[in-house]
Amino acid sequence: MPKKLVLLAIALLHLSCATRQPGDPLKPGYNSFSKEQDIEVGREAAAEIRKQVDIVENQELQRYIRELGARLAGRPEAEDYPYEFTLINEGSINAFALPGGPIFVHSGLLAAADTEGQLVGVLAHEIAHVALRHGTSQASKAQMVQLPAVLAGAVLGQESILAQAGQIGLGLGLNALFMKYSRSAEKQADALGTHIMAGAGYNPVEMANFFQKLEAQGGSRPPALLSSHPSPGNRVILVRAEMEALPPGNYAYASGSFPNAKRQVAQLPAPKKQPQQQVAAAAGVAPPSAPTAGFQRINGSTFSLEYPTAWRTYGAQSSSTLTIAPESGIVRTRGGSGGIGYGAVVSYYQPRYRKDLLNATWELLQQLQEINPNLRAAVQPRQVTVAGSEGLIVGLTGPSPYGGSEKDMLLTVSRPQGVFYMLFIAPENQYGRLQSTFDRMAGSIRFR
Ligand SMILES: [Zn+2]
Repeated sequence: MPKKLVLLAIALLHLSCATRQPGDPLKPGYNSFSKEQDIEVGREAAAEIRKQVDIVENQELQRYIRELGARLAGRPEAEDYPYEFTLINEGSINAFALPGGPIFVHSGLLAAADTEGQLVGVLAHEIAHVALRHGTSQASKAQMVQLPAVLAGAVLGQESILAQAGQIGLGLGLNALFMKYSRSAEKQADALGTHIMAGAGYNPVEMANFFQKLEAQGGSRPPALLSSHPSPGNRVILVRAEMEALPPGNYAYASGSFPNAKRQVAQLPAPKKQPQQQVAAAAGVAPPSAPTAGFQRINGSTFSLEYPTAWRTYGAQSSSTLTIAPESGIVRTRGGSGGIGYGAVVSYYQPRYRKDLLNATWELLQQLQEINPNLRAAVQPRQVTVAGSEGLIVGLTGPSPYGGSEKDMLLTVSRPQGVFYMLFIAPENQYGRLQSTFDRMAGSIRFR
């Protein structure tokens, strides 16, 4: 993505958060996906999730959730996405939306709701995340630091858009990509959810009350719903402020089926499958062994470097962004499409504030941590020279998509186009065997 566009996107992002007043229109933020891609990526992800979860067999309950959902999804604020509501047999209090419309509701959420309005509140909030395209907006922001070329439709042959989205690396699963939102996104979802609920005849304060009831009960182990939907502040005040902008309503609607649904959900059999994990390790996938054969050179548009002949490159050769890894270095995780567990990512970063290499590297690290909060700088930065340019090396640690921890090395180099960076990734116990490969790759970098 051109530098100007990225900076503009960031500027717009800030502008839109800062200036909105209750009642102002809510519009989706920066996004490099099309609406059609939202639908496509959500469908693929939903198919993956359906394989992993225990879908409630009670058709009366499924119909109940579907009908509540349809009433809300029919509101103009929900936009015209193909919404689909599925109740899954899972005791934790949660619900989640995928881009483009699939929404999954845990039976534990229905069991925890005291009123239909509380349940509807969570559905309206999830619909708002879909309509405001928060999932792909989040993924688009992740792309800005990592692999812009991949999702721009560059290469990757037959692979699905979901697989491409997963390749933005660093052990990111689907959850991290599409289901964890910022506080400002939460605020927007509460605001739009307020309009959706009110339009469907429910009192929006019930949504705020339910979130706050969960917060009050949470203690040291808050319900899953709260960890994927961080509190944007006092929800009741926010929702009430938003309601001021609405025409007065009596909010007296109720389907009449809530008490029956509560009785039936209490009688569901124990879940057959294990609950979906937040960041699931790839089951039974072993990292590749260290490459033994020779090296080959790849010529990118602004740099060239050597990499093991046994590895593949992902991304357009002409672009300035590449993933270089053996095929089994890209791991499919249970929770989603996968991430890079073994290999290297090469790209450029445009510092927002400070241009000197140390500060720019620090900024890049913070961006990477925003995508993967478990990533930690492990070693003090060390100065190096790469092809005649000033460079820095920082050691990192974080969870590996293979399970256990991974050791990464971030190399940054100050270039006229921005900060060139190369991130080497390996499971901690394999890092020693890969060190010489990484050293050779780093030593082979040439700039044009
Ligand atoms: Zn949310």
